Amino acid sequence: MTAFRRSIGSAARVLLGGLDWAGRAVDALAFPSYCPVCDVETGGPAFCEACRDELLGASSLACLRCAMPVGPHSDLSGGCSECRGKSLGFDAAMALGPYQGPIRHLCLGLKHERNAWMARWLGEVVAEACVDSLSDEVEAGAWVVPVPLHWRSRLRRGYNQAEALASGLARPLSLRVRHPLRRVTATPKLALIGRTERARIMKDAFRARPDPRLRGRTVILVDDILTSGATCGAAARALKKAGASRVVVVVVARAEGKP
Ligand SMILES: [Zn+2]
Ligand SMILES: [Zn+2]
Repeated sequence: MTAFRRSIGSAARVLLGGLDWAGRAVDALAFPSYCPVCDVETGGPAFCEACRDELLGASSLACLRCAMPVGPHSDLSGGCSECRGKSLGFDAAMALGPYQGPIRHLCLGLKHERNAWMARWLGEVVAEACVDSLSDEVEAGAWVVPVPLHWRSRLRRGYNQAEALASGLARPLSLRVRHPLRRVTATPKLALIGRTERARIMKDAFRARPDPRLRGRTVILVDDILTSGATCGAAARALKKAGASRVVVVVVARAEGKP
């Protein structure tokens, strides 16, 4: 009996050892051990130190309302010269940095499902960069909500980078990711469309599921790039219609594009 137990024990050890090895092999496949910006070996799933510092130092002085970079002596009362007096739909916006250099490189990479692994790390870097500015939202127990894709785009692309970024952002801030939003209309690429037409197309693009827990709630709305603000604005309006009291947009990159 003892010999039998011993043999079961060693069989289990062999099996567990094998599982551990398999687990590490799967991790190695899922999380490459090189920096996604400069390809240097990191020995583990992370940006290399130099690229991490560059990403964390990428933010410039920006408008608190629309996240557009501004000069050091800009008048920011009621927003910057780009957004002042305009209804944006959201209350504040922040970005890791402008859409250029390594941030642009990473945003382009995120569009492909094969790079989904780096969205979570990038979300963590965004959280680190924005943690001080988000202290009120963290204190308020904000929901972290990704901007959803239309189901057809989600199916075509295989994943939604905003969802992966949201989970990377939420974890270090100890916040919950929730999915109250639905994209009810498939929208064309907005880059080449004028401002009025964009607003018309996006007007009813999102709906938020009725949920009493959303009433009076602060929401951190997550997307990869903020350009004209039409998409995040429409998503924020849907969240507010469902009861959210404040919506703060957090993105990886702020691209040029007047609100
Ligand atoms: Zn690097
Ligand atoms: Zn502004």
